[in-house]
Amino acid sequence: MSSLSYVSPTSDSPWGTYLSQVDRVIPYLGPLARWAETLKRPKRALIVDIPIEMDDGTVRHYEGFRVQHNLSRGPGKGGVRYHPAVTLEEVMALSAWMTVKNAAVNLPYGGAKGGIRVDPKQLSMKELEKITRRYTSEIGLIIGPQQDIPAPDVNTNAQIMAWMMDTYSMNVGATATGVVTGKPVHLGGSLGRVKATGRGVFVTGREAARRIGLNLDGARIAVQGFGNVGSAAAELFAGAGAKIVAVQDHTGTIVNRNGLEMGSLMETLRRDGGVGNFTGADRTDTESFWDVDCDILIPAALEGVLTAERANRTKAKLVLEGANGPTLPTADDVLHDRGVLVVPDVICNAGGVTVSYFEWVQDFSSFFWSEDEINVRLDKIMVDALKKIWDTAERHKISLRTATFAVACERILMARQERGLYP
Ligand code: NAD
Repeated sequence: MSSLSYVSPTSDSPWGTYLSQVDRVIPYLGPLARWAETLKRPKRALIVDIPIEMDDGTVRHYEGFRVQHNLSRGPGKGGVRYHPAVTLEEVMALSAWMTVKNAAVNLPYGGAKGGIRVDPKQLSMKELEKITRRYTSEIGLIIGPQQDIPAPDVNTNAQIMAWMMDTYSMNVGATATGVVTGKPVHLGGSLGRVKATGRGVFVTGREAARRIGLNLDGARIAVQGFGNVGSAAAELFAGAGAKIVAVQDHTGTIVNRNGLEMGSLMETLRRDGGVGNFTGADRTDTESFWDVDCDILIPAALEGVLTAERANRTKAKLVLEGANGPTLPTADDVLHDRGVLVVPDVICNAGGVTVSYFEWVQDFSSFFWSEDEINVRLDKIMVDALKKIWDTAERHKISLRTATFAVACERILMARQERGLYP
């Protein structure tokens, strides 16, 4: 499946999923298809060793990665994930999806991603800071405001971005706010960034729902993953009159057919770091989540969760991919055959990187916009991008995923062609 010697993807693995998505778009690339192999090869992958002294005096080593998949359209851009299951192959896929996503919303970026194979919940704050600083120093070789700009992803947040910015700045000898995005607002962060990915899921979901005649007022929504992305999207949908009927996170699965009360659910999340102990709902087993009666399904946790078997069971008419890579290619086919519309990750969750772009621009000009300005600009970029993708899908009679890849890959490969091959 792969022509690369250093990974062995399978049809279900993230890089394997990405490769098959590329194969599906090649017929729509016309003469640019001669450059398509470039999409299947990350430009650069850095593996680093991160030794840290733990609070108990022992020394532990962690694996860290930064992959720059494609830099044809600009500096690398993509998050950093802290998770015990992080692998090089996963980071490669996440970086490739960033290439496609950034081009789909026409941001002047290539695609990159990073990660550390660690369970941060097992670390003290001091250990978390040390691992973050050492990782930043190690990948300092290839990141920078004009080279590659990390941001938060699973289990990373504004505090971690502040440590990354500080470490990089110490190493170069000047405060470089533009090296990461998703920073605290008083350190060059942008208003609206924290909720931007969830807002983008809401905007693309609202547009898609309108086009298929699904009224958001009263629509029933099931959300998997109630972190940065899932909770922000759920709040916005609830504000538009939808009912959040089921939520699943790493602490449990909760269901209430009448809709979960968002205020107290958010309170539980803040108090416990998860929704499992929420009292205004029934607890159910993990697998039953996929059988819940709902109109919209929002996978907003990790990749590879929507299998063909679960795709056959879901009652949803619309799937909004808040997470990166949640749907396997076989599940895509099942959903298509069943008439379930999927708004793919590479457009659906692009709101976060769009506001990251705003943050980067604001850092360079040291001139900061109001939250309203951010939200209005975000809304317009997402609506315009979805319209172009929708029109492309209708013209070629292809899925929104393949249409997003078609729009994005044309931009990426056109840049490749116009720049030419060095030397
Ligand atoms: P997060 O760490 O804030 O939240 C992750 C959520 O997933 C938590 O609620 C956690 O409990 C849940 N989860 C973890 N394992 C689970 C499991 N096995 N079953 C059910 N739930 C589980 O992360 P996030 O930033 O919200 O990212 C979620 C997804 O969105 C990821 O795929 C990420 O790549 C993608 N994404 C994030 C951003 C961003 O700006 N943060 C942008 C684009 C895409």
